[in-house]
Amino acid sequence: MKILKKTLSACLLPLLISAGANANDHWDSVEVKAVPVSDGIYMLMGEGGNIGVSIGEDGTFAIDDQYAQMSAKITAAIKKLSGDSPKFLFNTHWHGDHAGGNEHFGKQGAIIVAHENVRESLKVEKSIKLFNMHKPPSPKEALPVVTFQSEMNLHLNGDDIHLVHVANAHTDGDAIVHFTKANVIHAGDTFFNGFYPFIDVDSGGGIAGMIAACDTVITIANDQTKIMPGHGPLASKADLVAFRDMLVVAEKNIQALITAGKSEAEVIAAKPLAELDKEWGDGFIPTDVWVKIVYSGMVK
Ligand SMILES: [Zn+2]
Ligand SMILES: [Zn+2]
Repeated sequence: MKILKKTLSACLLPLLISAGANANDHWDSVEVKAVPVSDGIYMLMGEGGNIGVSIGEDGTFAIDDQYAQMSAKITAAIKKLSGDSPKFLFNTHWHGDHAGGNEHFGKQGAIIVAHENVRESLKVEKSIKLFNMHKPPSPKEALPVVTFQSEMNLHLNGDDIHLVHVANAHTDGDAIVHFTKANVIHAGDTFFNGFYPFIDVDSGGGIAGMIAACDTVITIANDQTKIMPGHGPLASKADLVAFRDMLVVAEKNIQALITAGKSEAEVIAAKPLAELDKEWGDGFIPTDVWVKIVYSGMVK
């Protein structure tokens, strides 16, 4: 957990620091690590959300692309795995730690695919109040050119890849990626492996949708499935079940206080997640902030 804490604190830095000498030093120091997942499939961990990469005869297929500042390092990491710049690029959602490299890879010729709400969110100015983050409208090259509503398939590198939209979970445009033959899933930010997640309530996210998204993945996974979470280490179905169960307890305990007429401040003061903190509270979202996120999504 200690390593996770460090990684995830660093993960928020780009949202909090403005450009400058320190920021450059920061990006220079980031390393991209490739974790083997299955034949030809890797998880790249650098700065921001985990990237899934499939390398094979049809070209490189990437799932997410981290921050814009990471594009050169990601390209180098893919090259090291004998892959080319992505031919197809999928966005699990619009956040800058997952889709920040779109403009770069779009200009390199990647065909960007995502749920239609990802394109809509990228097209306009967006903010995440909690992190004081503002995203200007993205240029044309950064926008998905293939969008879907509920699900679609890609047939690449010998696999049938099922893309499934999960409604109002981490945002309003999340989708999970299922390599049906390799038995590998990328869950995007509907799954933070080992710690409280961020939920973007301003973008239509909510804890009920997070739980439903986890259940969708749990239903299609088995004990051999490798699951790439949006953040945290490569996971198993059991890890995801534990995360889902944590969300269920959080929802139940906070709902009980809301039903009792408690205000946000009273809910936070009641420490409704005391039983979960030891195991889940060591990540990058402090418990009180996490309670506030869940509360704000539930009373909306
Ligand atoms: Zn993320
Ligand atoms: Zn996110």
